[in-house]
Amino acid sequence: MTDKYCVIGNPIAHSKSPDIHAAFAAATGQDIAYERRLAPLDGFADTVRDLVAQGYRGANVTVPFKLEAAALATRLEERARLAGAVNTLRFDGSEIVGDNTDGPGLVADIVRNAGVPLAGKRILLLGAGGAARGVILPFLREKPEAIVIANRTRATADALVAHFADHVAYPGQIAACGFADIAGPFDVVVNATSASLSADLPPVPASAFRAGTLALDMMYGKEPTPFMVFAARHGATVRDGLGMLVEQAAEAFAVWRGVRPDTADVLAYMRAAS
Ligand code: NDP
Repeated sequence: MTDKYCVIGNPIAHSKSPDIHAAFAAATGQDIAYERRLAPLDGFADTVRDLVAQGYRGANVTVPFKLEAAALATRLEERARLAGAVNTLRFDGSEIVGDNTDGPGLVADIVRNAGVPLAGKRILLLGAGGAARGVILPFLREKPEAIVIANRTRATADALVAHFADHVAYPGQIAACGFADIAGPFDVVVNATSASLSADLPPVPASAFRAGTLALDMMYGKEPTPFMVFAARHGATVRDGLGMLVEQAAEAFAVWRGVRPDTADVLAYMRAAS
């Protein structure tokens, strides 16, 4: 019997996840169906209960429900608990298991697709919202020399440093600063602010980059973001968030199906289609 999955969000019409999961299913020979599901803004929990009743096996969760999904889950994987957000639900009998594959997806895109190992590297993370929080544990597992979190609201970055204090290899492996105090250059700079959504450049100094810095914007779209244009002008190799999107989907597929699909063809297809 075909196993059913979906992605829940509001809005949801723009989501590329059904195309990505259809391609993974075809490539791996897994018999699944995957669709978009619009949940009312006050109706996320009802939507999930409805899916469970209809025999769905799991769901992805996107804006604005990732925090609510974490609260609704009856069990959280460690990476979801520390992220405080859930993008992948697995329905297992009476259990609703919450997971977060956004951070592992970003790391897979940087390490495998961009070919940049993170061990011993200096990483600058711009932003301290949900997306930033989700990548910190997966980054730490790669054993970087340092992760500096720069945020417009400094207190939020400080809170993230405290939140992950038990997971650092040594004091100072994670630090916080305001944008004005960024002391570069860095090997990897990740824009996890939502500035690109409004075509704004986060106030990152040019000194954050050097020739060969990998500058990745979590946002994706047809045009390079102002952050990507600025970083390229200062010598960085730039990348958008499409690879992260495809890799987080592959991680979710692995959570559900126990097989991690190859992503290269799907990423190339999505890149050509965008
Ligand atoms: P949140 O709303 O949780 O956090 C937004 C962050 O951006 C905060 O740190 C905020 O700072 C900062 N910010 C907003 N505007 C500006 C600005 N003009 N200048 C500097 N900082 C700013 O958003 P998310 O963390 O959920 O999402 C962030 C981005 O990541 C979005 O673009 C989203 O589309 C993308 N994303 C991509 C994914 C992918 O698969 N490719 C997956 C998940 C997210 P402050 O604290 O001061 O308000």
